[in-house]
Amino acid sequence: MVLADSDKLRIIVIGAHPDDPEAVGATMMKFVDAGHKVRMVSMTNGNAGHFSEGGGPLAQRRYQETRCSSAITGCEYIVIDNDDGKLMPTLENRNKVIAQIREFKADVVISHRPNDYHPDHRNAGLLVRDAAYMVTVPNIVPSVPHLRKNPLFMYMYDRFTVPNPFEPEIVVDISDLMDKKLDIWDCHVSQMYEWIPYNMNILDQVPEGAVERKAWLKKSWSPFMAGPVKAYKDKLVELYGAEMAEKVTAVEAFQVSEYGSNPGMETLKKMFPFFP
Ligand SMILES: [Zn+2]
Repeated sequence: MVLADSDKLRIIVIGAHPDDPEAVGATMMKFVDAGHKVRMVSMTNGNAGHFSEGGGPLAQRRYQETRCSSAITGCEYIVIDNDDGKLMPTLENRNKVIAQIREFKADVVISHRPNDYHPDHRNAGLLVRDAAYMVTVPNIVPSVPHLRKNPLFMYMYDRFTVPNPFEPEIVVDISDLMDKKLDIWDCHVSQMYEWIPYNMNILDQVPEGAVERKAWLKKSWSPFMAGPVKAYKDKLVELYGAEMAEKVTAVEAFQVSEYGSNPGMETLKKMFPFFP
């Protein structure tokens, strides 16, 4: 689809690790298909995400995995060379985030919530939250032109409840793109078939062949899809109507951060142009 430049949304998804922005990968593919522009950013290079590999070679391997993902989604993908497992909410990192958001001229910024299980996720969430508003202040990072309008900042889904649970305004039906989302996960071989199963003590369950392990991944991930579908059923009914909501098998969900601009529900529904 060809959109006029003025109608193109510019969406930046800032995650902690190379594979985190993919958590909203299906919705981002929908945006790209609709002619919008999406950039994914990893705040670390992933050089700690393994049990038998590490450092530069692992960072390089994971960078290649992001190339694979980017080729499927059609999103730009930037990896920032911070060490994995050591991401801190420093001023230097905040300024990197401010520069990313400004250079991309983002209308929408998506990241983790600052309460999440992994310290890098929490700190990436903090860095992005603290870049809200500051992206509009000319004397901060003066070498990169400031934005005249604070973007819409949103959080991507997580399951954590303390101090407060995730409460999405927008829940996108991605049932039609589950196979493509699986293709993206499949790019991250070092994570999906090595590190995560090792960390979960199920490495011995991962099949050998590429086809077999992908089928295994599909089967392993399916139960995780059902939780948010059930939890946000009322939202699905509100956005899609009862009949369509009944058929949804997988979703990606988004919560508005109160530190960015909040355009209100009617405009939000127009910005996420996927609802009937
Ligand atoms: Zn992560």
